[in-house]
Amino acid sequence: MSFFNSIFSAKEHLPAKDSPEFFREVLDATREGIIVVGRDMRVVASNRAAYAAFSRRGEVLENRRLSEVVRDLHLHEAFQRALENDQVFDIKLELPGIIQKKYDVHIAPVHLGGEKNVLGFFYDITQIERLERIRQEFLSNISHELRTPLTAIMAFVETLEDGAIEDPENNLRFLSIIRKNTERMHHLINDILELSAIESGNIKIQLKEVKLAALVDEIYTNVSTKASDRSISLINEVPEDASVCADGVRLEQMLTNLIDNAVKFNRPGGKVTVRYDRSPERSGKDLISVADMGEGIPAEHLQRIFERFYRADRARSREIGGTGLGLAIVKHLARLHGGEISVKSFPSEGSVFIIELPAAK
Ligand code: ADP
Repeated sequence: MSFFNSIFSAKEHLPAKDSPEFFREVLDATREGIIVVGRDMRVVASNRAAYAAFSRRGEVLENRRLSEVVRDLHLHEAFQRALENDQVFDIKLELPGIIQKKYDVHIAPVHLGGEKNVLGFFYDITQIERLERIRQEFLSNISHELRTPLTAIMAFVETLEDGAIEDPENNLRFLSIIRKNTERMHHLINDILELSAIESGNIKIQLKEVKLAALVDEIYTNVSTKASDRSISLINEVPEDASVCADGVRLEQMLTNLIDNAVKFNRPGGKVTVRYDRSPERSGKDLISVADMGEGIPAEHLQRIFERFYRADRARSREIGGTGLGLAIVKHLARLHGGEISVKSFPSEGSVFIIELPAAK
């Protein structure tokens, strides 16, 4: 049968636009759950989405009491009142469970076949509410993070205005505190802009072959003063000929964040070591690891340190000028490469962060 013939013959089997099968198809293709209840408060009809959301152990919903299908008193009352008083209701429904579900439910009386019924349209808002919560948390975190340095700046400007500017012993010190706090705000705003650009998909990566050993040397040169201030040795164990397939600028950004942390959270006199590996059991993956000899990260924090603004040791991170966004940026950049980031940590011995990238062909 030709391609066109097969389309036309398939069309002949389509249900007519006003046939029950047509409406059944439309309802079943609807993403939102629909339940119709009769006078006796039993389900007379439902669509596939409602079945997926509310059927326990695969039972059909039809003929069952609404109160058994969705156990919520408020919902039950709204259906009942819609039936008795011809009223329309919009209610919120929260269903407990392993994953708590939330719905906006539109409840309206309908007349079907001369009988009064009530239709409930269940719009799943679980994900929307989750994203809204994340957005609010993010905003409140940003405000909080900006307020701390801003308060310090305002306090020291006032102190200088109130006479400390004439105090040769302290004026420069106060100015340097102001400078440190403005730098912190500057870092924070840069990191926020960077993260939001990555998350909104505005950053495209350009994959190329990157010589890894040379890149690590370059980053080591940039952090060498910070490292030598704390007598930390920077060790590059990447073989000279190792290359990975990555966006050079973005890989540098990821490694700079990890190496910077490895220096910041190291013990005085410790080491930072970068290694490259293409382990056989993960063939097709290039692994770049950054190891330090710091205090390590307690197990209860390990899962969360890639979240925005999450810090294992809040006071220490602030004191050493962290924004709490570095690892979130690394995670997003690794994923943009089709890769991942993971961490292993050993209390009092140190941590190892591993970037996993799809291997160069
Ligand atoms: P920050 O700007 O605070 O360094 P990051 O997102 O880079 O933010 O890191 C988040 C948190 O993870 C840090 O505040 C710190 O608690 C923890 N962390 C990151 N890297 C290390 C490390 N190498 N050793 C110990 N803790 C680390």
